[in-house]
Amino acid sequence: MTNLNLHDALKQYFGFTKFKGLQEQVIRSIINKEDVFVIMPTGGGKSLCYQLPALIQEGTAIVVSPLIALMKNQVDAIRGISEDEGIAHVLNSSLNKGDVARVMNDIKSGVTKLLYVAPESLTKEEYIDFLKTQKISFVAIDEAHCISEWGHDFRPEYRNLKKIIERIDDVPIIGLTATATPKVQEDILKNLAITDATTYKASFNRPNLYYEIRPKTKDVEKDIIRFVRDFKDKSGIIYCLSRKKVEEIANVLIVNGIKAVPYHAGLDGKTRAKHQDMFLMEDVDVVVATIAFGMGIDKPDVRFVIHHDIPKSLESYYQETGRGGRDGGEGHCLAFYAYKDIEKLEKFLSGKPVAEQEIGHALLQEVVSYAETSMSRRKFLLHYFGEEFDEKNGEGADMDDNVRNPKKKVEAKNEVKI
Ligand code: ADP
Ligand code: MG
Repeated sequence: MTNLNLHDALKQYFGFTKFKGLQEQVIRSIINKEDVFVIMPTGGGKSLCYQLPALIQEGTAIVVSPLIALMKNQVDAIRGISEDEGIAHVLNSSLNKGDVARVMNDIKSGVTKLLYVAPESLTKEEYIDFLKTQKISFVAIDEAHCISEWGHDFRPEYRNLKKIIERIDDVPIIGLTATATPKVQEDILKNLAITDATTYKASFNRPNLYYEIRPKTKDVEKDIIRFVRDFKDKSGIIYCLSRKKVEEIANVLIVNGIKAVPYHAGLDGKTRAKHQDMFLMEDVDVVVATIAFGMGIDKPDVRFVIHHDIPKSLESYYQETGRGGRDGGEGHCLAFYAYKDIEKLEKFLSGKPVAEQEIGHALLQEVVSYAETSMSRRKFLLHYFGEEFDEKNGEGADMDDNVRNPKKKVEAKNEVKI
């Protein structure tokens, strides 16, 4: 494999002609047996960073991933490019003895290049004992922020991965995440005990997204309708905190002649799938949703993302607004902000364990600062993700409300109305 041209492999296995962003460098590091840490925004093309080296190297790469649905999608995609189904497998609790034997055989015979496992499956002694005896090329930990309590999706099982990997083999570890806060990154590296990881971090700047915060008043529904009407026939997402609010806003839009559907976890699977399809097929323009909507949705021409309620962290805000303008075209991100919504989110926290409360509170304070800042929102957001942004000449520098319409340096609450 040493002389295999990576571009040929990219074309042959994935049908792409160019690497995206830092992919090629990442892949070269993996082939060089380095420990690698990859930080790229969602949609940046992280999967290919471990899939390609897995396919062209000897042995089996283990991919740890938190969601069965995500693993299944990837396995199906990889199987689609090969004659042999055994090229990729998932090892999880739903397999019967026969299935497991088949997977193990394929690994033994060297057919399996990618083995996807949920972290809890990897703790099984019989799997560890088996994998110890096999040729493992590397271990990739996808969604590595699950390791950190500061991440938006902490999973305790993730914290034991390092010990298990050590028992299996002394192989390179690849961590991948779309969470860019320095704190989470530090946590990941510390937990994986990688001291000299080669880190690749893509920029999180989305220059075509326009960021705007408006005060949330009793007229918020009217504001939303007016805003959506300006985007006639264009696609957009409106996020609300509660299922009830989702239904309410969807109804208000429909009554006002806007084609909209609700989406939340309280709807049955069939309805959810139908509403998602209607949005993707453009039978409707707007989907009103809780955060249940969005994972893995790749509609390139979402022209606006509205937050009826401010999210609980800037990571969530970045993820959700990030679903706008994927095609590089306009993406207007409008969030309505009222301090009483922050208090509501604080209240949700009060039932949680103390450590979680503290983290949740700190994350919320950042949201408040962002919402109330008069500085470049892009600069604020990127700084939060550990990235410097040149507010004069950086790409997208004028794409927010504060830069376009600078506020006077007067705190709203100190203004005296006569
Ligand atoms: P992430 O995990 O970083 O969110 P994915 O791995 O899911 O991103 O990839 C996002 C999309 O980018 C996928 O549709 C994938 O097929 C596509 N993609 C990845 N690499 C390339 C490439 N080199 N050229 C074109 N498209 C790519
Ligand atoms: Mg991914």
